[in-house]
Amino acid sequence: MHRSIATVSLSGTLRQKLEAVADAGFDGIELFEADFINFNGTAAELGRIAGDLGLSIDLYQPFRDFEGMPEAQFRRSLERAERKFDLMQAMGAPTMLCCSNTSPLAVNDPALAAAQLHELAERAARRNLRVGFEALAWGRHTWLYGQAWEIVKQANHPNLGLILDSFHTLSLKDDPAGIAAIPGDKIFFLQMADAPLLSMDVIQWARHHRSFPGQGDFDVIGFFEQALRAGYTGPLSLEIFNDIFRETPNRRTAVDAMRSLLYLESEARQRLAEQPAAAQQVTLFDPPPVPSLSGLSFIEFAADEASAATLATLVKQLGFRRIGRHRSKAVTLYRQGDINLIVNAQPDSFARQRFEAHGTSVCALGVRCDDPLAAVGRATAMRSQRHDSPVGPNELRVPAIVAPGGNLIHFVPGMLGANGLYENDFVLEDEGAGGNDAGLQRIDHVALGLALDQLDTWVLFTRAVLGLEPGESLELADPFGLIRSRGVANADRSLRLVLNVSLSQRTRTARTLSVTGGGAVHHIALSCADIFETAARLRANGTRFVPISDNYYDDLATRIDIDPALLSRMREAGVLFDRSLAGDYLHIYTESFEGGLFFEVAQRVAGYDAYGALNAPARLASQAQG
Ligand code: MG
Ligand code: MG
Repeated sequence: MHRSIATVSLSGTLRQKLEAVADAGFDGIELFEADFINFNGTAAELGRIAGDLGLSIDLYQPFRDFEGMPEAQFRRSLERAERKFDLMQAMGAPTMLCCSNTSPLAVNDPALAAAQLHELAERAARRNLRVGFEALAWGRHTWLYGQAWEIVKQANHPNLGLILDSFHTLSLKDDPAGIAAIPGDKIFFLQMADAPLLSMDVIQWARHHRSFPGQGDFDVIGFFEQALRAGYTGPLSLEIFNDIFRETPNRRTAVDAMRSLLYLESEARQRLAEQPAAAQQVTLFDPPPVPSLSGLSFIEFAADEASAATLATLVKQLGFRRIGRHRSKAVTLYRQGDINLIVNAQPDSFARQRFEAHGTSVCALGVRCDDPLAAVGRATAMRSQRHDSPVGPNELRVPAIVAPGGNLIHFVPGMLGANGLYENDFVLEDEGAGGNDAGLQRIDHVALGLALDQLDTWVLFTRAVLGLEPGESLELADPFGLIRSRGVANADRSLRLVLNVSLSQRTRTARTLSVTGGGAVHHIALSCADIFETAARLRANGTRFVPISDNYYDDLATRIDIDPALLSRMREAGVLFDRSLAGDYLHIYTESFEGGLFFEVAQRVAGYDAYGALNAPARLASQAQG
C-alpha cells in the first residue's frame, strides 16, 4: 500500500518532519495546514523538498466549517477554497480534506450540505483536484461516517468522495461494518489512529491522546479490514494528535509510525486470508509470522570486575549456584531451577558499553523460541535492528535484536536442553547447591522502567515484534507521584513483561530512570511453589526484604476475606497478597541493590493473571521510608 502520515503526528520543523518520515520509508504525507502556514518557503518549494525526499503530498488538511452554511458564508468559503486550491496545485497535492462543520451557523440540512459540497467539488474539478468529506466525531450535524456518506452520495460528483478516520468512528463506538458496502473508489482517503479507552470529552481525547495502531485499545484492525472489503486502494495514513509525540524525537516516532502500519497491514492480511471470498485488491505487508515464544531462558547483567563480585554474593544469597564460566570471556553463569543469570564483566563488549552508560544493570534478555532465525526475520521486517555479537571458535551464535532503549533480546532455540545453550560457550563446572537453593523455579516476569515517551513504543514493539498482548493499564501511587503500569504477555503466559512509566519526575521510577537512562529492567520476579518456605530460606541465606507496614495487614483483612492463619503468616514474613476472581498472588520484594534494581519472589495460585500492582504502593512507600 501507499503509506502516508500526517505532519501533525511528529515533532520538529516541517523540513525535519519530512526528512524523518522519508527515512522511515513512508511514501507520502498529509500536510497539516498549520505546518505549512508556519513554513518558511512557498508551496512550490515545499513540493520540491518533498519530491527530492521521494515523498508525495497526498492530502491538504483540514478545510473547516464549509457545508450547510447560509449563502454569504458559503460564498466566502468558496473564495477561501480557491486560495487553498492555488497552494495545492503549486505543491502538487491532489486531494483536500473537508471536515464536517462545527460552526453554530451550520444548518441541519443534508440536501444543502450536499449541494454546497457539489459546488466545491466542481471548483476542484476545474483544476483536476478532489475533495474528501470527513465526519468529525464532534461535527454539529454530521458526526458519523454513514451520515457523511449519505451527503457525498447525494452530492453525486466524481471529484467528491469520503474520508474515513478510525478515531471518529471508534471513539463514538459506531459500527464500522457498514464501510464494506461503500464503493471503494468513493473512499478518497483513509486515516488510521488508535487510542486508549478513556472517559473524557471526545475533542480532548482526539486532540491529545490518539496513538498509533497497535498502541491503544481500539479495534483498528477490524476498521481497516472493512475499508479493504470496500475495495479501497488509496493511501493508508496515520493522523495522530498526541501530546507526547509532539515532543518525542521525530525519528523515533517515525519508526514507530511505520511499524504500526506494517503491523496493521499484516494483521488485516491474516484476517482477510481466513475468508477467501474477500478479494484482496492491494498488496498488504506480509512479514514472517510471530514467533512462538516459551519464556525467558536467561537474564544477562552488565558489570565490571568489582560489581560482578557484588552480584555474585547477591545471587548466591538468592539461592543461585555458579554453573560455569565462559570459555573466552569474563562471563559467569548462575542457575536455580530453570532460571539462568549471566553476569558479563567482559571488557570491550556490548555489556561493558551498557555498564559504562548505565552502571550495573540488565543488558540482555534471552527468550526461548521455536525458530530463532524466523524470529529475527520478523523483528527486522518490523523495523527492529538485528545485533550480531562477536563469536569465538566453537561458540553458539544466538541471534539478537536491539529493543527500544538499547538492550538486547536474544532468541534462544527452545529445543536445546538446560545446558544446550551453554555447553558450547561455557566451561560447565557446577559448584553444587551447597544447601543454598531457595526453591526459586522460573522467571515470572521482568518489569521495565520506561521514560514516559517509551510506553507506547514498547506496547507496539512487544505486540508487533514478539506477539505479546497488553493487559490493563493501571495507575499506582508512589509517595512522590504517579506510576502507570501495564503488563504484556504471550498467550500461554510463559513470557510476561511489565512496563512501568513515571508520570512525575519525582517518583522512584523516574529517579531510577535518570540513573539508568530509561528502558531499564527495574525488577525481576522469580516464581516459587511455597513462598513462606522460599522466603525463610532466602532470609537464612542473608537476603533482605523490604519491610511492610503492620497497617497493610490490618487493612488487608478488612478488604479480603482471608484465613486468619494465612494472614498472620504473611504479616510475620512480610508477604504481600492480591486476589482476583481467578486466583491469588503472594509476593515479596528484596531490598534494592546498585542502580535501584531489586528482585521479587512470587507465588501464583490457580489462574491469577496479574502482577500484584495494588501492592506496589506498599513497596514504594516502604522503600521511601527505608
Ligand atoms: Mg481525521
Ligand atoms: Mg512485579
